[in-house]
Amino acid sequence: MQPQISPSKTSYKVAVIGAGAAGLVAARELRIEDHQVVVFERNNRIGGVWVYDPTIESDPLGVDPSRTIVHSSLYDSLRTNLPREAMGFRDYPFVVKDVLQRDPRRFPCHREVLHYLEDFTSEFKLSELIRFETEVIHVELLKEEAEGKWIVRSQGKNKNVEDEVYDAVVVCNGHNTKPCVAEIPGIDVWPGKQLHSHNYRVSDPFSNKVVVLIGSSASAVDISREIARVAKEVHISSRSVTNKFLTTNHFHFDYLWLHSMVKSAHEDGSVVFEDGSSVTADFILHCTGYTYDFPFLDSCSIVNVDDNRVGPLYKHVFPPQFAPWISFIGIPWKVVPFPLYELQSKWVARILSGKVSLPSQENMISDMEAFYSKFEAAGGPKRYTHNIVDYQFKYYDLVAAQCGVPLSEEWRNQMLFSTGMRMVAQPETYRDEWEDQILILQAHEDFAQYIP
Ligand code: FAD
Repeated sequence: MQPQISPSKTSYKVAVIGAGAAGLVAARELRIEDHQVVVFERNNRIGGVWVYDPTIESDPLGVDPSRTIVHSSLYDSLRTNLPREAMGFRDYPFVVKDVLQRDPRRFPCHREVLHYLEDFTSEFKLSELIRFETEVIHVELLKEEAEGKWIVRSQGKNKNVEDEVYDAVVVCNGHNTKPCVAEIPGIDVWPGKQLHSHNYRVSDPFSNKVVVLIGSSASAVDISREIARVAKEVHISSRSVTNKFLTTNHFHFDYLWLHSMVKSAHEDGSVVFEDGSSVTADFILHCTGYTYDFPFLDSCSIVNVDDNRVGPLYKHVFPPQFAPWISFIGIPWKVVPFPLYELQSKWVARILSGKVSLPSQENMISDMEAFYSKFEAAGGPKRYTHNIVDYQFKYYDLVAAQCGVPLSEEWRNQMLFSTGMRMVAQPETYRDEWEDQILILQAHEDFAQYIP
């Protein structure tokens, strides 16, 4: 269905929660549409995940609700797993700014991404919209008022609590902070140490240790390789032992083995796998991902997180009953995050300003139900609801079409495809060796329109 693009514009008071990549681009797009924006950021700087913090949480597994929370999940050695041309915002290319002061590599270190986000913030004068060290602790609908008014309760660094009324709320709080941990029978009596990758920073603690690493994500691949250089043994336990990403080229590490899922852990220190094999291990490292968390939402009435499905959400952004007055940027995963956030933010901002309209509540609900039914009929586990890897380009194009902006660039789509292939074929070197020069050239031709 083609969107209705209308010239009439309305300006609203909008609260954005979070000043990571999603909150920053949301703030920019909302301001372009003349909304009055306040960004709440509990940290003292922008960047979210990209603000590396060498400290780890008081609970290394990250499950104790009373633990001190560290937001970022970065490890010190992290380099991006996307090439900078494809990773950056569509209209603010992630180009090399200063070869001497910055990391000019195509797959740069995490500090370079933070510099890029700082440049973006300064270019669009976003700092003036941000209230740093101010955490949103509660959001609820103001029932007595006209539809669409929200009370946003925040707490500043002086612990003062403030209630303010907003017309709309855009949730950009990130979803790489609350760990998911594998359930292992017998773990309570197992004497070794456990850590979630959220709290992995450097490999030193694993020196000469026998490590069982659970997971097969990009972080699992990077971390297992890093640990294999210092550990006595690394045993990777993956749901899919045939995962090409893990198996390809992995075995030139002498002390690295692949196993099926962990079945149980025992008092004598052994960890038993489903295939019957076992090892006596010192560490279990959970690279098992994260779950969505909205502790500030009166959750039952707005959205629920059920087996990692945030619902109900129309097209992963709007809860139909409250749309467009509350929206969520950045829920899909296995995506190219920054351009996705940019498109979703344009969509939200333009809907609020009345330039673009949403379907009726009934139509959003039936679209969403049809999506859930199709997804489940295809055997998709609920926890993968927001994994859009199989249709990410279609999704970008759908959102772009809604906003009336150009569709996803062909060079970007091809570059992602070629990077994915290289990542599997040459996981050790894909960040430094490539053959997609033509795509790089095309990207830079495209960037010329945005770079003065
Ligand atoms: P975040 O960056 O998490 O930002 C959320 C912000 O909200 C934070 O600043 C937080 O302090 C704030 N906040 C949270 N709750 C509140 C509250 N209640 N009140 C006020 N403020 C609040 N992406 C790539 O494109 N390329 C990569 O190579 C890549 N590698 C990654 C590697 C790792 C290990 C991880 C974990 C992620 C990686 N990503 C990568 C994905 C990355 O998460 C996204 O690129 C993106 O930066 C997420 O942005 P965000 O704004 O959604 O969330």
